[in-house]
Amino acid sequence: AKADGRGTYRFFETGMDARAQARRLLEMDLRAALQRDEFQAYYQPIRDVASGRVVAFEALLRWNHPQRGLIAPINFIPLAEETGLIVQLGDFVLRSACNDAATWPDDVDVAVNLSPVQFKNPNLIASVTEALALSGLAARRLELEITESVLLQNSEVTLTTLHELRAMGVRISLDDFGTGYSSLSYLRSFPFDKIKIDRSFVSELATREDSMAIIRAVTGLGRSLGIVTTAEGVENDAQLELLRREGCNQVQGYLFSKPRPASDVAIMLDRPRLL
Ligand code: C2E
Ligand code: CA
Ligand code: CA
Ligand code: CA
Repeated sequence: AKADGRGTYRFFETGMDARAQARRLLEMDLRAALQRDEFQAYYQPIRDVASGRVVAFEALLRWNHPQRGLIAPINFIPLAEETGLIVQLGDFVLRSACNDAATWPDDVDVAVNLSPVQFKNPNLIASVTEALALSGLAARRLELEITESVLLQNSEVTLTTLHELRAMGVRISLDDFGTGYSSLSYLRSFPFDKIKIDRSFVSELATREDSMAIIRAVTGLGRSLGIVTTAEGVENDAQLELLRREGCNQVQGYLFSKPRPASDVAIMLDRPRLL
């Protein structure tokens, strides 16, 4: 079997299910990529709506494949989660993000996505502690983004871990808010610092009245609970205006910048819009 250069794999052997073989190949490729240092954290700015200031960058993982080019996380995170490799990958992102953020202005934070699988690993707290200690980054500058699925699994252990992280001074965001089944009950189960309104609601703002209603409800909820609201996937000025009017605190999206390598952070801090 070999990669055909377009991001898919072709198979010539018989006897093994092609899908299973593709997975095995990708898994081997993932392991090798970790050894060869082919992963890289990209950063996307998060802006405060009122001041327009960049208040944080979200770290988004990219795989710089020697043959296939830059690969987006949707194409390897699921398998990394199934194989457990996400723990190593997650540690890599955490360390990169803390090291990079330590070189940024002190009032610019960094947000790192955590997979539910990382919560099953007993070393998560140690990994975070180590990433902070090695980089010298203040814990208050690190935000960890989790999805509802994290709270769905063995909630006792998970909640304890979340409380420990928060006690360290790290902030916890609830990512992709509104896409799960019972989002509201999760807000009661843990004192989140931030709610990230899923991109799907923002992209349908202009065309669907219910999306507008949901955004209004979530920003209102954030205000009453004292939780910061961030809208993701802001792509145009009309969306920005509606979000501003609803009192959404922070925005993130292609309107301001795509995710870019760490070497572009200075430019992103300098220029309000960079597509
Ligand atoms: P997410 O955490 O919801 O990240 C936001 C995604 O939306 C990113 O996709 C980002 O590039 C994209 N995005 C941002 N602004 C816009 C916009 O205006 N329009 C559109 N169409 N898209 C926008 P990306 O980088 O491909 O990441 C996809 C997902 O992969 C992330 O969704 C996250 O769930 C996961 N992921 C990325 N990096 C990591 C990581 O280091 N660890 C873990 N566990 N998951 C990661
Ligand atoms: Ca995220
Ligand atoms: Ca998200
Ligand atoms: Ca998402």
